[in-house]
Amino acid sequence: MAVQQNKVSKSRRNNRRAHDSLSAANPNECSNCGELKRPHHICAACGHYDDTEVVALADEIELEDDAA
Ligand SMILES: [Zn+2]
Repeated sequence: MAVQQNKVSKSRRNNRRAHDSLSAANPNECSNCGELKRPHHICAACGHYDDTEVVALADEIELEDDAA
């Protein structure tokens, strides 16, 4: 087991943790359905990107019988 050679002071520990905070998400509105989505990502609600449908949703796809 690794054992630390020197005690890390509260100041040094807290200075290390000063950069650990997470930045808040910055969602955009989807231009097709208005749902909040991640910038530069396909909308998870409607599958559109930049007003064009990129990914068809699962309930919109008709599966053939031999597919399963
Ligand atoms: Zn959308």
